[in-house]
Amino acid sequence: MKTNTLRLAVQKDGRLTEETLGLLRASGLEFESYGRKLFSACRNFPMNIVYVRDDDIPSLVATGTVDIGILGQNVLNEKRAEVKKLLNLRYGFCTLAVSVPKESSVSSVSDLAGKIIATSYPKSAARFFREQNINVTIIPIEGSVEVMPSLGAASAIVDLVSSGSTLLVNDLRLLTPIYRSEAVLIANTQSIRANRSSQRIRELVTRFKSVLSAKNCKFIIFTAPQAASQKLKKIIPSLTPRASQAQTTDSTLEGVVNEEAFWSMLGRLRALGATNIRLMPIENSIL
Ligand code: ATP
Ligand code: ZN
Repeated sequence: MKTNTLRLAVQKDGRLTEETLGLLRASGLEFESYGRKLFSACRNFPMNIVYVRDDDIPSLVATGTVDIGILGQNVLNEKRAEVKKLLNLRYGFCTLAVSVPKESSVSSVSDLAGKIIATSYPKSAARFFREQNINVTIIPIEGSVEVMPSLGAASAIVDLVSSGSTLLVNDLRLLTPIYRSEAVLIANTQSIRANRSSQRIRELVTRFKSVLSAKNCKFIIFTAPQAASQKLKKIIPSLTPRASQAQTTDSTLEGVVNEEAFWSMLGRLRALGATNIRLMPIENSIL
């Protein structure tokens, strides 16, 4: 690896890997990732991507072994490393939560006083119970935390949940959330200041932001009676008429809408006479 090349650590093989590599590619970076090598060099940007376990990313970034990293906020909260968070990346959503067996008599966290809690997040769990003034015994477990209650090893677990299906499969129910998490971009505190790397990191952040802001937005184009333009503009403020239109009573309007909001506004657009409505993806949006 060339030393003046930026280094980014990503999860080698796990839940964040696919979307992380997708974000990098959507940001215009070209690299090979077949077979998940130790690292890939970007062809069109001075950066190497290093594939590691997510748990190692905070210390690799804190020590400057790599300049930046992408990982779950949950790992960051647990490891508490000296790093700078640059951006929330809007994927990898999950919640760290306290769960108990479905049949358990426990109905609130205070019922867990004096009980054993199994978790792979001992620091986050200890902090939570300390803040609630509830005395519990926390046993740190690396994997398969969700089976601990059925083995009789714990009364409750503190673990990540997203859809809730893991809880269901293991006969558990959610008692209370502790914190929400998503993938984040972090940086070494020196790298964001150093001449060698700061400009490249800024460029990468700009690219990521542009992909993120384009993600939920769609380009909309439709035909509508000119008389309805003002009312339509109230629904979609970014609407503008297409240039060089023939003098007809209908006009072609275009703009940008949030995809989720679009479905709720469709009925109102139609009622105002909008036809030929087309929605198209936007690849980047640099504001
Ligand atoms: P590694 O081998 O890199 O240590 P891991 O087993 O610790 O991987 P994964 O299960 O691949 O981690 O999860 C990676 C990240 O995905 C989590 O730290 C979290 O940020 C996010 N995530 C999203 N949904 C979930 C979920 N339901 N369960 C666990 N993690 C989730
Ligand atoms: Zn891990």
